[in-house]
Amino acid sequence: MYDYLIVGAGFAGAVMAERITTLLGKSVNIIEKRSHIGGNCFDTIDTNGIRIHQYGPHLFHTDNRAVIDYLSNFTDWESYEHEVLASIEGREVPIPFNLNSIDMLFPEERAKKLEAKLIERYGYGDKVPILELQKTDDTDLKELSDYIYKNVFLNYTIKQWGMRPEEIDLDVTARVPVHISRDNRYFQDRYQQLPNEGYTALFERLLAHPLIALSLDTPFQSEIKIEGDQIYYRGEPFGGKLLFTGMIDELFDECFGSLDYRSLRLDFEYISKEWYQAKSVINYPNEYDFTRITEFKHIHPVTTENTTILKEYPQPYIRGENLPYYPLFRLKDQEKYRRYAMRAQEIENLILIGRLAEYRYYDMDDIVSRALELFEEIF
Ligand code: UDP
Repeated sequence: MYDYLIVGAGFAGAVMAERITTLLGKSVNIIEKRSHIGGNCFDTIDTNGIRIHQYGPHLFHTDNRAVIDYLSNFTDWESYEHEVLASIEGREVPIPFNLNSIDMLFPEERAKKLEAKLIERYGYGDKVPILELQKTDDTDLKELSDYIYKNVFLNYTIKQWGMRPEEIDLDVTARVPVHISRDNRYFQDRYQQLPNEGYTALFERLLAHPLIALSLDTPFQSEIKIEGDQIYYRGEPFGGKLLFTGMIDELFDECFGSLDYRSLRLDFEYISKEWYQAKSVINYPNEYDFTRITEFKHIHPVTTENTTILKEYPQPYIRGENLPYYPLFRLKDQEKYRRYAMRAQEIENLILIGRLAEYRYYDMDDIVSRALELFEEIF
């Protein structure tokens, strides 16, 4: 019998497993339905000899020194500063939309005037969410804001979420604010770096402790059941703790109805030329059904004759057919989630953590930080 059961071998589950075994000396069984560790961070070398991220681009960035210090026990790093371009009116311009983007899209005099007004109104270096910029009462800035809203956010967001920017949580479009600067980097965090042997190798080291037993290809439903406030493991009452990082509605047999998510179809293409595009990611806010193309060779440089790209086609989530990539934020989804979260509180030895269990749009550094904090709180 194990002291702890952990469902899911992504960042939340792996960090908790590492802490529990290393610091408490307790045993853990990780139950993972996929045939690999690492959750959506899983990466691998493909037939072109290029490291790809199987579930879409994962670019590590953080301002949190504690997260870097912790993960550095399990990996060395290579520096990588992410840059994204968006295809707008036939040009490829920096995203987040910034002063350089204005220079590329507007006539010189007009660009100068708009830039001066932005700097005067917000200050050089400020970051302004598009829905905030939309509130401006200056006619020139309103014209600029409408242009950015229409060309950068509107169609991309409709493709990505099936909703308009003002229908989704303000924090989502605020992830990519208009940046009053000439810094073309996608993130400005102090630490921008990737595990030098990839995420999968990092997870292998996180999970290397001999007290960690890993059960791959194992849906939790085949091992764990909940009845009332009791957890059962392989048919017997379980007295240890269950850390659950999977879909919370599945843990309770969807008793309050199923939670909704946004999914993606990920199409990898193998291209017979050395390079495909100018930067790692090009966004297509206005053309095509996909939102963006990633070329992995820019992320993990390697000399090869061919290249590998990934096109992301957002999709409605269909249980059993595709994966739940993004939790939703509509009132009805959040209310349903709250009912599950309250149900979970009835079970003393159950802990929820992660994007799926907490139904939250966590970044990688945030979930590592949350797992470290949770460990301190509980133990
Ligand atoms: N977004 C957009 N146009 C862009 C980039 C982002 O409209 O060119 C919006 C869109 O709603 C997206 C959100 O900003 O879902 C957050 O973008 P981010 O790149 O952070 O998304 P992720 O990489 O997590 O999918």
